[in-house]
Amino acid sequence: MKENGEFLLPGDYICVEEEALPGEGTYVAEGKVLTTVTGTVFNDKKKRTVSIFPRVRKPLVPKKGDVIIGQAENVNKHMVSMSVKYINGQSVTPSYSSIMHISHATRSYLDSMFDALKEGDIIRGKIMDAHTLPIQFTTTYNELGVIYALCSKCGERLRYLRRGTLKCDNCDNVEPRKVAEDYGRARL
Ligand SMILES: [Zn+2]
Repeated sequence: MKENGEFLLPGDYICVEEEALPGEGTYVAEGKVLTTVTGTVFNDKKKRTVSIFPRVRKPLVPKKGDVIIGQAENVNKHMVSMSVKYINGQSVTPSYSSIMHISHATRSYLDSMFDALKEGDIIRGKIMDAHTLPIQFTTTYNELGVIYALCSKCGERLRYLRRGTLKCDNCDNVEPRKVAEDYGRARL
């Protein structure tokens, strides 16, 4: 019998069937209890079962409606690609790519994506479709949009001026953005 807390890989031997019943994360082959997952041994002596606590967290599977936070990477007139860093507040490693079409950036008509966001901006979006790759998101709702942005002239942090507009107090530059309602107050 393997020790409690011992780290095992899928297919590793834990004990013979006579010692303990197979619990979660295990299976029996030829009278031996083996692991199906990577994790640590838990031998429940009262129940006479042995199971494996998975050590590897289940991968986050993005779903429609999930809130994502990421950084705008490539922006052109009609599209933006964003590397996703968080899904529903959980960090994503490695990050992956998502895209938004200009028609999903704001509720009203937008002539150019550059009027809504710029490269390097931190953006909160909502997944519209997780079945396509890359994932597609929207920022049309009030709580969605840019949550952190830097001045494209001097690199200082931009301050909320009024709806749709951010201002740099350092160089007085004014830039358009589709900001989230908590711009400047959002926590990552
Ligand atoms: Zn500036």
